[in-house]
Amino acid sequence: MPATILDGTKIAHEIRREVAMDVKAMAAAGMRPGLAVVLVGHNPASEIYVRGKVKACEEVGVYSETHTHPDSATTADLLALVDDLNRRDPINGILVQLPLPPQVDAKRVLMAVDPAKDVDGFHPVNVGFLSTQRPGLVPCTPAGVIEILRRSNIAIAGQECVVVGRSDIVGKPVAMLLLNANATVTVCHSKTRDLAEVCRRADILVAAIGRAGLITREFVKPGATVIDVGMNKVTDPVEFARLFASGLAKNAKREETFRTKGSTLVGDVHPEVAEVAGAITPVPGGVGPLTIAMLMFNTLKAAKLERQWLVASG
Ligand code: NAP
Repeated sequence: MPATILDGTKIAHEIRREVAMDVKAMAAAGMRPGLAVVLVGHNPASEIYVRGKVKACEEVGVYSETHTHPDSATTADLLALVDDLNRRDPINGILVQLPLPPQVDAKRVLMAVDPAKDVDGFHPVNVGFLSTQRPGLVPCTPAGVIEILRRSNIAIAGQECVVVGRSDIVGKPVAMLLLNANATVTVCHSKTRDLAEVCRRADILVAAIGRAGLITREFVKPGATVIDVGMNKVTDPVEFARLFASGLAKNAKREETFRTKGSTLVGDVHPEVAEVAGAITPVPGGVGPLTIAMLMFNTLKAAKLERQWLVASG
């Protein structure tokens, strides 16, 4: 039986609706949450992402402002901007769109963001909060993975979870969130021996690798839940054929798009895995839509946490 498709677009809409309701209530009380997005240079992909984030803010009622800097921006320029945003009341969240130009010390800029406004959840203070289970801001894509599981009624506690990928922005925080939810967690990476065998242990397998279709059916225990975080642009017709030649993977609409556009978006999980998994996230339409939904959630959460801190500190 083919896997149940976990519809990330639908779940993201649910979250955005819930956030919009809370934002409305906060705005009515004079505390409308606000997000500042920092965009440097003219990277077309970054510009698209930023437009998507600003549009999401409009939809859920979050105040937003975009700060653009030319390609020639320096570390000092960005530190001054972040310092200003850290102090400004209407701004609860600060998002520095990556990548930054090579002359900018990106780590220094990210470290300068007030952890209470770090809606990406990348600041070491928030990483520490996550690993010690204190309230803080959790990276958006990993938080989205957990929302997909929870809202699809897939149990996490006691399950064997295998995460492939150990990046600071996806693999490690996903593993920590699963551990915090009482799963037994194994983290794999490029040096893991016999990756397929380790992955086959998983009741829940999370792929965050950045290699199109690396996870094939041999990696998956029949009936397992497979969460595909990967987003890879495939342009090579031979690679396209490897991924979409037969079975459930064959898809006339995708073939048509590939012919006309010359590319298609593919996850780290081979589409044939849908024939053995119990449930699976598609690409596109799986984890991707959750990232912006969780950014909206984090901006709201930052506003709520700030409020609590203000109340607590008198
Ligand atoms: P990354 O920083 O490049 O990390 C990739 C991880 O995969 C590394 O830990 C690497 O191991 C591991 N890896 C690479 N090749 C491997 C192999 N052959 N076998 C086992 N492990 C291997 O990537 P990332 O930023 O975490 O992103 C991962 C994927 O998620 C990408 O496709 C990215 O586009 C996607 N992504 C999607 C969203 C979304 O909104 N849906 C958000 C962020 C990222 P080592 O540590 O040993 O090098």
